[in-house]
Formats: sequence, structure tokens, C-alpha cells
Amino acid sequence: SNQRTFNFNAGPSALPLEVLEKAQKELVNFRGTGMSIMEMSHRSAPFEDIHNGAISRLRKLYSIPDNYEVLFLQGGASLQFSMIPMNFLKIGQQAGYIMTGSWSEKALEEAKLFGEPYEVASTKSNSYRNIPTLEELQFHLDDAYVHVTSNNTIYGTQWSVFPDTGEIPLIADMSSDIMSKPIDISKFGMIYAGAQKNLGPSGVTVVIVRKDLLVKANEEIPTILKYSTHVDGNSLYNTPPTFGIYMLGEVLNWVEEKGGLEVIAKNNEVKAKVIYDAIDNSNGFYTGHATLESRSLMNITFRVADESLEKLFLSEAKEVGFVGLNGHRSVGGCRASTYNAVPLEACQALSDFMVQFQNKHN
Ligand code: PMP
Repeated sequence: SNQRTFNFNAGPSALPLEVLEKAQKELVNFRGTGMSIMEMSHRSAPFEDIHNGAISRLRKLYSIPDNYEVLFLQGGASLQFSMIPMNFLKIGQQAGYIMTGSWSEKALEEAKLFGEPYEVASTKSNSYRNIPTLEELQFHLDDAYVHVTSNNTIYGTQWSVFPDTGEIPLIADMSSDIMSKPIDISKFGMIYAGAQKNLGPSGVTVVIVRKDLLVKANEEIPTILKYSTHVDGNSLYNTPPTFGIYMLGEVLNWVEEKGGLEVIAKNNEVKAKVIYDAIDNSNGFYTGHATLESRSLMNITFRVADESLEKLFLSEAKEVGFVGLNGHRSVGGCRASTYNAVPLEACQALSDFMVQFQNKHN
């Protein structure tokens, strides 16, 4: 059917309908050029406008200071797990990893190939239900950097206050909560994110990196894996994912039109609350995975307490048009991803469905 579904996918995930419709309109003849963006040289004037427009919108929305570079790379957030230690960790040098889920684990594993990463703290023994408290974090003063996963897509936890690492650069994997709220970029040495949740289609990775880190970076690594290569080429060292960058620019435009990050953040709070309320008011029929203080506004993870009903919950939800509510294959359960482009109506509909299901089966 032509009906748009209630899409709670974890990524790739819902995109703003307005953006999709605009892209559709411009698809075969982009603004009078007689061709699609996909058919256009990445060195042409129209693409250059798209590319630089997307960078400047990102800079504006986040008020990115001038001493930071903005890069559009490929290889997903997963390649950043390797590029970070490859560029910034020297043999024998340490880097701190704060362990809050599977993606932190993957990041740490890659760093082991290049230096001496260590776990600053881990909440694994608590099934990654929580973010560590700031008091639990002890860094080594000579760490090359400290790595943090700002939002844990699988477990449904999110940092609300980031640790102050002083002179040590703080590097954050913001794949699943980038552009979801205002943040102070100057607190970070680097931020990275795959685009496929809040920013656009998969295929583009956004990197925001402080310039002084690049000066000290390792030189003896492959050209394409050096951040400095992409800085020097304005992310056009080789052919970039042109259509993805166009979509990203249009999504940022949509964020701007919505009123910017303050408005987006408010909306996200309201959306998540509607679903968390269904969990919290269920008298234990639904149980949230994350502790209250660590709850994510992007990925709401929960179980149907009566395990025998969980399958039924997921299949009935699917039947009435909710997509993507299965938890990550590694943990099971249920997960509703409520990224920027998921409308409040979808969250309200899910919340209503949860209440109805409970009333029917309680
Ligand atoms: N980090 C986080 C927090 C993620 O959610 C994901 C993907 N879901 C990744 C890293 C890996 O991203 P990619 O698939 O773009 O490599």
C-alpha cells in the first residue's frame, strides 16, 4: 500500500517524509541540470554546492568552533573503530575505553591492534543496564584519548552528562544520538557517527575532529585511512557517496526548518516519554532494560515480563503495522528506536498499542 508505516527500525531507520519527497521530486533532473545527483561528477559545481552546504549546515546546527574539521567518510562507524587508534594511538601508548555495550567492545578490540587500550570502567556485569557514574571514571593522565559511546543502540542507554577528561581528548561514538540534542562540541576531541540513524541513508560517516589532534597523528598508515588526507581534500580525496551526502544535507535542512536542535531535543523527550510511560505504568507487565537514570531517548529497550507473551506482542505489533520492534539479535526482547524523524504520532500509537495489549492479556 501507499501508507507509510510506523517505523521503529534501529538503523537504517525512518527519514523525514518531506526529505524523501523532495529527493523524489529532484531525482531525475536535479534543479535543471538534466541529470540526477547520482549521475553527476563529484567535482562539478552543483555537487560542490551540495557538499559544502551540508558541511556548513552541520557546523551551524552544532555551532562547531573553527578549530574543528568536518569530514564525510565511508566505511561506517565501524571503520572509525580502527581509524581512531591507527591515527591517534602510538605503540605502547594507552587509551581509555568506557565500556557501555557491544559497540564499545568492538571499538576496544580494534584499538588492541595498535596500542594499549584499557577499560576505564564497564557496566557489563550489570548487563549494560547503566552508564557508569562520573566518580567511577579514573583516567591515566598520559592517555592518547578516552573513548565513549554516547548512546548504546542495543542496550538502550545514553550518557546525559559527559565525563570531563581535562587535557585528554574525549572521542565519542555518537552514531545513534548525533543531532538529537544540542551538545558542546568543544568538550570533545572527536565525534563520529554513521549517518543511517539521525542523519540520512547509510554510506556516509560524519567525523568532527579537533585540528590539534591531526598534527600529532601517526603518519605511517595507508593514505585513505589518515584523517589528514580527507582534511586536505575536503572529503573529496576519492569519490564520496554523493547521493548520501545530498540526503544528509537535506536532513540537516529539515532539522533547521524544525527549529534546530533545541526543538528536536524537546520533541525527542516527549516522544520517548510516551513510550516509557506505557512501560512504567504497566505494573510490571513491561520491564525496561535500562536503569531510569541511564535511559536512552533514542532506543527504548524493554521486555514483556511474561516471556510467553513476548513473541505474541511482537507478532501482533507487526500485524497492525509497527516495524522494527524486535530487540537486537544479540539480546532479544523489544526495542523501539525513536530517532529524530520518527513522528510523535508513531510513538503515541505504539504506546496505545502497548496499553491495549496489556489490557487484553493481563
Ligand atoms: N556504533 C554504534 C553506537 C552503532 O549503533 C552502530 C550501528 N548500529 C555502529 C557503531 C556501527 O556502525 P556502522 O554499521 O555504520 O559501521
